[in-house]
Amino acid sequence: MTILTLDRKFVSLENYGHSLRAPSYIFKPTRIEEIAEAFQLAKKTGLTVTARGAGRSYNDAALNGGGIVLDLSSMNRVIKWDALKGQIVAEPGTTLQQIWQMVEPDGWWPPVVSGTMLTTLGGCLGANIHGKNNFRMGPIGEHVIEFTALLPNGSEVTCSPKKNADLFYAMISGLGMLGIFTSIKIQMKRIYSGLLEISARPVNNLHEHLNVLLEGAPASDYIVGWLDATTGGRGLGRGQIHAARYLHEGEDPDPQKTMSLKNQNLPSRIMGIFPKSILYIFMEPFMNNLGAWGVNTGKYISSLPRHTFRQSHAAFHFLLDYVPNVELAYGRGGLIQHQSFLPKETAEAAWTELLQLSLKRGLPSYLGVTKRHRPDKFLLSHAVDGFSLALDFKVTNSNRTKLSQMLQEFDRIVLDAGGRFYFAKNSETTPETTVRFLGPETVRKFKKLKKLCDPNGLLESDLYRRVFS
Ligand SMILES: Cc1cc2nc3c(=O)[nH]c(=O)nc-3n(C[C@H](O)[C@H](O)[C@H](O)COP(=O)(O)OP(=O)(O)OC[C@H]3O[C@@H](n4cnc5c(N)ncnc54)[C@H](O)[C@@H]3O)c2cc1C
Repeated sequence: MTILTLDRKFVSLENYGHSLRAPSYIFKPTRIEEIAEAFQLAKKTGLTVTARGAGRSYNDAALNGGGIVLDLSSMNRVIKWDALKGQIVAEPGTTLQQIWQMVEPDGWWPPVVSGTMLTTLGGCLGANIHGKNNFRMGPIGEHVIEFTALLPNGSEVTCSPKKNADLFYAMISGLGMLGIFTSIKIQMKRIYSGLLEISARPVNNLHEHLNVLLEGAPASDYIVGWLDATTGGRGLGRGQIHAARYLHEGEDPDPQKTMSLKNQNLPSRIMGIFPKSILYIFMEPFMNNLGAWGVNTGKYISSLPRHTFRQSHAAFHFLLDYVPNVELAYGRGGLIQHQSFLPKETAEAAWTELLQLSLKRGLPSYLGVTKRHRPDKFLLSHAVDGFSLALDFKVTNSNRTKLSQMLQEFDRIVLDAGGRFYFAKNSETTPETTVRFLGPETVRKFKKLKKLCDPNGLLESDLYRRVFS
């Protein structure tokens, strides 16, 4: 057994948006024993430990300033793939990209995916991610058959909705604060084509935007809205809705071809010439209020005719991977995201207030995305019977304080409207906000489970200290 020591330098880790930094000791385990060793070392040295998958959280969920970070990206082996049942067992560092590329040629697709394929299974369970099908399929946790985990108290546990159910529903969504997932068994969704049928339609204002999401969802497998947050007045909340459905068996004349990786992989060049890896450099000059207004207006105008088309699963789901390192276009200060979840009854009024406030302050979001959701049973759930609005903000040295104050005002508006927040995204959530939206009973239950799994308080992250202190 290798004995872990701290005779190594601090490495500065960042969040996805490069707006936060935290120096930490990095350990890269390849076996469960090495995770156990890291816990022992933490206990001996008084340091804390945070699990990190791909580090694609927008905030401090996978950061641990001054502590140990367990980078699980090397524990990325697929242990078993059963192409008949569509069930996969994999280590926590396995990415969604590895998974869809393995299962799709056999006629399956991950039931829930994030907007990037670079996230890991462990990270997706830690946050309990949702997709553009949340209203239909729930979060990823609803498709987990079973997982194994190592707890800081030294026990190895197996959890499913029936076995250790309390821990199952708390560890999924538990932000890596109860234990470390070591293997995950998850059910895939059967598909009959590598293509989705997409219907795209413009919406002129927030009222229409939310109505189309609400009414379009029951007839769709996926639904998502792009929202222009740079325009106010009568056009406030305008945008475009994409509703998608799977093709039924027999609808695609050549499913083997459309499900092949060649047909799915995103092109690496634009118009076959320019490498996409440099595209973000050309976006940077537009990352200011005027430039973003121009881009959003252009996008709105080009979305105007209603149309239907077919698109590969990868292209539909992973639009943000189309431009590698798109986050770098936001410049040195990086970006943060604010995502709020509101009941369908209160969403329009609250988001009207919030969008107007951002315009008034001269701090509009350059990218807005809406989705339709339904509640779920996980302990630290962010979902509601309603909608979510995710807003990306550019961070600069001069706007950092103003932005942070505005996002705290957003939180107040959302709380007053009965809304919730997502721990993998928001950077401003305070302990008071957490108690208000989760309820004191849920917070008590989570802390009680934490005491049981982690009696010495070894698992902590910057996010945990911020929202649960
Ligand atoms: C471009 C982009 C698009 C996105 N789109 C969506 C979306 O559509 N829907 C959505 O829900 N989210 C979305 N996200 C957020 C992202 O899916 C989550 O933040 C996810 O948790 C990131 O996975 P990761 O592997 O990078 O995990 P990390 O960011 O590294 O970690 C996330 C959390 O999981 C914990 N964790 C990691 N590994 C383990 C483990 N093995 N055991 C226990 N805990 C662990 C960490 O401690 C941390 O709390 C998006 C992010 C980006 C960058």
